[in-house]
Amino acid sequence: MEELPLDHFCEAPHCMRPAGHKAPKSRTNIEEYSWFCEEHIREYNAHWDYLKGLSPKEIEEEIRADILWRRPSWHKGNTFKTGDFGGREDVFELFQKHEEKRSQAKYQETLPEEVLKAIQVMKLSFPITIEELKRAYKEQVKKYHPDVNGGAKEAEEIIKSVNIAFRVIEKFLGHARS
Ligand SMILES: [Zn+2]
Repeated sequence: MEELPLDHFCEAPHCMRPAGHKAPKSRTNIEEYSWFCEEHIREYNAHWDYLKGLSPKEIEEEIRADILWRRPSWHKGNTFKTGDFGGREDVFELFQKHEEKRSQAKYQETLPEEVLKAIQVMKLSFPITIEELKRAYKEQVKKYHPDVNGGAKEAEEIIKSVNIAFRVIEKFLGHARS
């Protein structure tokens, strides 16, 4: 798989890692791509092999059944130190959190998935100003700077996600103002 500049979050549900890998959206639509982190591109590839020999309808049913993301390996290999980073929480907890957020700020429901991931990475919630975004960005960068964290790979990856998050929210705010 081709390496890409890190401009996207992984598209796996609730995964806020930087996505350095792309994969065709489906067997029948290889023109459009999804972006994934290293762990989830591996899952994607495993799933792709698994789907060999199924009819398009069967594949669609399998995808709808969400088996890809419910596999046990979902929980493995997540070494982020922060509590709410990546896929460490189980789906039920995430659902509960989602419900809480819904009651706190109903309009956030309508935000694109990418923006929701971005504000979680930044530990922010809307509404925010560009100044607040910049402040949060500096805080996160300071906290996860490789020098502070002894060059830990996890910290480096978080910094990449923080950078993506900053660009995503900045862009979103730009659109929101007009
Ligand atoms: Zn991922």
